[in-house]
Amino acid sequence: MGELIWLTNVKLETGERQVDDGVYETLTDCFDLKIVDGRIAEIKQAGQGSELLGKQIDMAGKLAVPAFKEMHNHLDKTYMSLDWKAVTPVATLTERLQMEAEELVELAVTTEQRATNMIETLLKKGTTHIRTHVNIDPYIGLKNLEGVKAALESFKGKVTHEIVAFPQHGLLREEVPHLMREAMRSGATIVGGLDPAGIDRSIERSLYEVMAIATEFDSDVDIHLHDGGSVGHYTVDKWIEIVEEAGYKGRTALSHAFCLGDVSAFQQKAIAERLADQVVAIMSTVPINLNRTLPPIELLDRSGVNVHFGCDGFYDSWSPYGTGDVLEKVTRFCEMYGKTDERSLRYALKYATQGITPLDNKGNQVWPKENDKADFVFFEAASTAEVVARKPLNRWVMVAGQLVQS
Ligand SMILES: [Zn+2]
Repeated sequence: MGELIWLTNVKLETGERQVDDGVYETLTDCFDLKIVDGRIAEIKQAGQGSELLGKQIDMAGKLAVPAFKEMHNHLDKTYMSLDWKAVTPVATLTERLQMEAEELVELAVTTEQRATNMIETLLKKGTTHIRTHVNIDPYIGLKNLEGVKAALESFKGKVTHEIVAFPQHGLLREEVPHLMREAMRSGATIVGGLDPAGIDRSIERSLYEVMAIATEFDSDVDIHLHDGGSVGHYTVDKWIEIVEEAGYKGRTALSHAFCLGDVSAFQQKAIAERLADQVVAIMSTVPINLNRTLPPIELLDRSGVNVHFGCDGFYDSWSPYGTGDVLEKVTRFCEMYGKTDERSLRYALKYATQGITPLDNKGNQVWPKENDKADFVFFEAASTAEVVARKPLNRWVMVAGQLVQS
């Protein structure tokens, strides 16, 4: 048997109570959790039963929340750890990409340092899993991949990760398909893609190339899709068809996918059902942009589509904003969609935890269970609804029963 730790006085959500018509209150209680080899071996009422043997960590009544998963990031792009720099104004996306290309070589020298700073920031806020995209492009080849891998390696045991090889400057050009394959042989774990219409200007060729690389390496796929309106909608439709053909159900994701909100309600519903059928996940960074509609997150969720949130790249050549707090994205979603009651707030936590919430829709306790990994963020809060609405700043992050941030 490995190391035994008792987490004492852990507040867990245990159920709910209806206090008035449609008004619910979350019920909690304090427990002692026995952790063996980083997993929960036993959960018992706090302070009851026999003496607790082994190391003890007193959580003093703090609320345990499932650790967060950051499902869309760009660890290689941030300016963090460098001198302050605002974004250089440009008129078009082409100019923005040109600007980034010029900067890439200069920034590649400090990728490991900048990525390390970003991971630390994410971890402090409660994220213990990061899906990061990493540029694979003609300007720096695999340089950023090397830096990001080194940074992630130093967080082994604290942060798990997935690395998406991301053709930011287009997939169908020069030696990029070759570089993407090189990246998949060099530590990238997921094949990325980008705007098959807007950037690659050839929807089918771009999507088929992504799938060709993915099947070659038996890896999952995560495509950035900013292409809007019916062009974007067509791209999603085509992608679902390709996923079906390739037998890739459950292995792909589309990031951003604003187009899903651009089409008619009828089309939204129909495509949501097809996404659910092929288990294509939607990653959203819940951006604030008055010129863009968000994908219909609630409709997607109701239709059975897995929706996950991420912080995206932040404080980089694209945007000076961002805090690295995936919980902030959940709060923003709730505020934008008018979620104000206990149940709705509690439910929305799922977007930051890959679907895990302590209570299910009916208020029954479903987490944590024995044998779950002891990965938590602790808050001084009454319930996860308060956590979502108030985003408390003080957080205690635990991985496999060890406090990594307190
Ligand atoms: Zn992105």
